[in-house]
Amino acid sequence: MENRYTEPKNSIDALKRLKNDAHKKRGSKKSNPFNKLAQLDHRKDEALVISGVKHQLNLGKRINFERSKAPFRKRARSKARTDAYLNQLIDLNSPLLYRYTSTLTCGIVVYQRGEETRSEYCKQRHCQVCSRHMTGHLINGYGEELSNLKDSQFLTLTIPNVSGKRLRSSIENMLLSFIKIKRRIERRHGIKIKGIRKIECTFSEKRSDYHPHFHFIIEGKYNAEMLLKEWLIDNPTASRKGQDIRKASIGAEKELLKYFAKMVNGTTFYAKAMDTIFQAVKGKRVFQAFGLTKHIDEENIELKAQGQTHLGIKDDKFTYIADYKDWISESGEVLADYTETEKEKRYNKEVSESSKRLNLGIKERVRLNWGQYPTIEPISNLIF
Ligand SMILES: [Zn+2]
Repeated sequence: MENRYTEPKNSIDALKRLKNDAHKKRGSKKSNPFNKLAQLDHRKDEALVISGVKHQLNLGKRINFERSKAPFRKRARSKARTDAYLNQLIDLNSPLLYRYTSTLTCGIVVYQRGEETRSEYCKQRHCQVCSRHMTGHLINGYGEELSNLKDSQFLTLTIPNVSGKRLRSSIENMLLSFIKIKRRIERRHGIKIKGIRKIECTFSEKRSDYHPHFHFIIEGKYNAEMLLKEWLIDNPTASRKGQDIRKASIGAEKELLKYFAKMVNGTTFYAKAMDTIFQAVKGKRVFQAFGLTKHIDEENIELKAQGQTHLGIKDDKFTYIADYKDWISESGEVLADYTETEKEKRYNKEVSESSKRLNLGIKERVRLNWGQYPTIEPISNLIF
């Protein structure tokens, strides 16, 4: 083997040769090429090349380690954003108080075993950490099938605005109305309507009322038009103007599946309005698929799917420290390396002072939506 390592073309060649040699060596249990390093001491140049490879590999591992922190940084940002308004929901002492308080401990402990991490999540709609996860879960489940629908249409069905008191019953009536209409059309025409339905609700501060509506992605223009026509028959107070039908653009399904609750308008959080909306949709499915092969229960996300690879550190327990906006292990290791930007800091501060400002009588027209997420992100980024 003395001549085997002369004049390596480059470091990769050298590594390959070492690997081959290690495999060829009969009876050797050591297949790691680096175990050969000691034998190469007498070949100075060669050793330098090998150590270069090793250095590069270590560097690569370091870069990957830094990359593996990225989803945790997103999680840290979502958590900080949620914390900015969470206390305003808790202060309402609403019937949903226990749900709001459960978010205080959402994902605060991250357990790491090897490269896998686990956390307990609150799974609440007002939690931005969980909303992000639900979006990923829905896109993974429905995204492909929806994007493969033929001639898919983006349909919006609405009713006139209602008061907060009537919001829940209005949404219940809308849900029932849609089920009836869909069944009627399917029976009459012997077809199966395919698509997905999502509930959204906007709030008008100026008028102090709510505007519940459905968004759909429906296969086939004719089917979507039939749904709209029947909707107007069953909901005579609804105007044609309020309804909308258009060809679904590319990526519309991803847009629709975004679960993120845009609860903050500008930098104002309308706690009472959001609480009213959350109470109105409590126990209701925000998403409902029909005619698709998959059915996902967005309320019941498996904890297993919530694991996230985090490289570099093994077997550790990280605890969220609100002041640092990050998770720190007992040994002082930082999980996300998250630093709030000045912009983000200002934004969160203003959001956290919304109640105070609203008490001063600020009136604005606002839209509060489910499913408004600023940008489409790759699916892999959404699983965290
Ligand atoms: Zn949560």
